[in-house]
Amino acid sequence: MAQGAEDRVDVLIGGGGVAGLALAVALRQGLGPSFSVTVADPALDRMPADPRASAIVAAARRLLATLGVWDAIAAQAQPILDMVVTDSRLTDAVRPVFLTFGGEVEPDEPFAHMVENGPLQAALIAKARELGVELVAAGVADFDHPSPARAQPAATTTADLQVALTGRSPIAARLLVAADGARSRIRERAGIATRGWAYGQSAIVTTVAHERDHGGRAQEHFLPAGPFAILPLKGRRSSIVWTEHDREAARLLALPEREFHAELERRFGLHLGEIADVGPRGAYPIGLWVARAFVAERIALIGDAAHVIHPIAGQGLNLGLKDVAALAETIVDAARLGLDPGSAAVLERYQRWRRFDTMAMGGATDALNRLFSNRSDILRLVRDVGLGLVDRLPPLKQLFIREAAGLVGDVPRLLKGEAL
Ligand SMILES: Cc1cc2nc3c(=O)[nH]c(=O)nc-3n(C[C@H](O)[C@H](O)[C@H](O)COP(=O)(O)OP(=O)(O)OC[C@H]3O[C@@H](n4cnc5c(N)ncnc54)[C@H](O)[C@@H]3O)c2cc1C
Repeated sequence: MAQGAEDRVDVLIGGGGVAGLALAVALRQGLGPSFSVTVADPALDRMPADPRASAIVAAARRLLATLGVWDAIAAQAQPILDMVVTDSRLTDAVRPVFLTFGGEVEPDEPFAHMVENGPLQAALIAKARELGVELVAAGVADFDHPSPARAQPAATTTADLQVALTGRSPIAARLLVAADGARSRIRERAGIATRGWAYGQSAIVTTVAHERDHGGRAQEHFLPAGPFAILPLKGRRSSIVWTEHDREAARLLALPEREFHAELERRFGLHLGEIADVGPRGAYPIGLWVARAFVAERIALIGDAAHVIHPIAGQGLNLGLKDVAALAETIVDAARLGLDPGSAAVLERYQRWRRFDTMAMGGATDALNRLFSNRSDILRLVRDVGLGLVDRLPPLKQLFIREAAGLVGDVPRLLKGEAL
């Protein structure tokens, strides 16, 4: 890229998914209108039809509340009041319950809420506009002189990045944030490799309506091909995340309506009465990938651009929102001291904060998937004894709940509900 840019911004965020938009809002809220933030995403001029819903844990909900977007989605958010885990074969008549979670981290604060991705993204876009974030419907195509996979020594001052956008004039940025998802072009162009593997599994996602109330209960049935999760949505509806081996997932997805419904019903059961498929179906390949570095010269990675994990514990987006909270706090603290938000010292602080936690969560979801997605009777006995033990030890269970809610460890301020 040779051409010089006329526009200059403090932070350019490539990717307007939940992670990119939340970061834009956090930065403008913390630093005000004199700190310029632009979000570039080719999908910004059309509303995405994402069939997914996400379990937003307590810490992530506190972040959204502090950013002023929770109120806009609260009426559509379904608290998860309890959760049951079963471990059985598809043909078993009864699915014994091995683990139950009563879900509050503090009085009146459920450990998670189910929120549909579409309305959450719409609320973030509205808040970003209100705060004066510039939203550009264009993709990041290229940029100049990144140093592969590592930041410069702290004392080095480097020039702005010149960033080329598709169909627009280039922009100069002090910091470019890669929030462009699992197949991040920015990460690739920065020369940052990923480590990990595909599981050979895909998650089928759809929404069902049912006759009876779910009572806020989430259910995760560990079937031999992988977890089948029934996650409560507002009203008599549930979001389904149904894991199968890739080939079987493709076959199921292509089935005519009636046959797909019959397969769904076999797994769902009739405990909530008759069910009807109401949402579009989608399938997502599942893998574990973590970027070898979260920063390069004037570049930071957040969200799925930095890591993709198995949806078994519903933690992918929550992990991305932890990146948002840590990067926003690092930049806001630095900018208030008059420091360059894209300097190596700032980026190194962010990387140190997030890499270990990400590796730990990636490892935990990988272990869970290996333990559960198999047909071995011995492993089944081991995990059922383990789950039964956890179920009978309240302090351990409470620790798991607080960990799953994102409230353990060196928690950034936004995740504690404190403004920057
Ligand atoms: C089946 C399933 C269920 C899940 N359930 C949960 C759950 O319950 N809880 C949870 O926490 N997580 C869950 N996750 C994970 C969660 O969905 C992802 O972690 C999250 O959506 C990632 O958000 P993101 O903003 O990082 O990336 P994305 O949502 O992928 O957004 C990336 C954006 O970048 C844009 N883009 C792409 N290329 C460019 C470019 N060159 N320039 C500019 N923009 C670009 C795209 O248009 C897109 O808008 C689940 C995932 C799956 C597959």
